[in-house]
Amino acid sequence: MAVQQRKMSKTRKRRRQAANAYRGHPVSSCPACGATRQPHRVCLNCGSYGEKQVVTVTSD
Ligand SMILES: [Zn+2]
Repeated sequence: MAVQQRKMSKTRKRRRQAANAYRGHPVSSCPACGATRQPHRVCLNCGSYGEKQVVTVTSD
């Protein structure tokens, strides 16, 4: 009969499963210009956050 060498805790098992389930940063679209951006971040394309223009975007 096979005997386990040590028990794996629930915490350790769930931490590994959570790390393996990571699928990259969440992506949403900007309501102002429609470009893809991360949620709760300033849009890098147009510089808006929510309804407001918060950053002036310049192109070098
Ligand atoms: Zn935008």
